[in-house]
Amino acid sequence: MPLVSMNEFLPRAKKEKFAVGQFNMNNLEFVQAIAAAAKEEQSPFIFGASEGAIRYMGIKNVVALAQIAAEESGVPVALHLDHGSSFEVVMQCIREGFSSVMFDGSHYPLEENIRLTKQVVAAAHAVGISVEGELGTIGGVEDDLDVAEEDASLANPADAIRFWQETQVDAMAIAVGTAHGMYKGEPKIHYNIIDEVSRAIDAPIVLHGGSGVPDESIQKAISYGAAKINVNTENQVASAKVVRELLSSKPDLIDPRKYLGPARDAIKEVVRGKMRLFGSSHKA
Ligand SMILES: [Zn+2]
Repeated sequence: MPLVSMNEFLPRAKKEKFAVGQFNMNNLEFVQAIAAAAKEEQSPFIFGASEGAIRYMGIKNVVALAQIAAEESGVPVALHLDHGSSFEVVMQCIREGFSSVMFDGSHYPLEENIRLTKQVVAAAHAVGISVEGELGTIGGVEDDLDVAEEDASLANPADAIRFWQETQVDAMAIAVGTAHGMYKGEPKIHYNIIDEVSRAIDAPIVLHGGSGVPDESIQKAISYGAAKINVNTENQVASAKVVRELLSSKPDLIDPRKYLGPARDAIKEVVRGKMRLFGSSHKA
């Protein structure tokens, strides 16, 4: 199956109250692990590629690996630019074969965020590419983004509803209390914001920083309208743990297949668990 827009599965997910996971690409092993999990679970999924991952892997590798994974898994797969920072980056990704993009204008004032996001939507929708927008400031660290806890701010529901009405984005990331990276304590999710915004707009709500959020909180967020959940840190933690243990217990180990292969298995198990938790298994 070729790469598809998120509109192939997100509207159904919102309606039937399940969520589709965005799992970020970091290297070949992540790509293979995520695709293998999806094939076994018969789950649609989204490959997230940040600008940092694109710089690391090279954009042509990112697209080619996603295309191969989509063909081999046989499930609906979107290749999505994660936190795109400019119109130019978005256009490069679309030209290279991405099927979905996020434009993150959340650090701009509302009017400017709406204006810039509308430009992205006009261009992307003309060629069938889905768009995610963001409002509010999600805390934590992820690649090029670093937001201190005191600078994180929740999305204002009225602003989020207006943002969607004017931009017509296909998925709406709003800051509701989750954060990128590792949590120190348990995140305090503001379900009332998810509920209020989700009821008022057609697009599904996106939860960034899905790693380390307790299962019950994830299920509650989905019940209120979160239909896309981003996970990366938990996969990184699982993979690093395996590599660290193997290399420290076997000082003579040099073959990367012998430590990256087991890391790949660990990532796959995390992803399978998330697909079951999100309710996307058997929804391909
Ligand atoms: Zn994010």
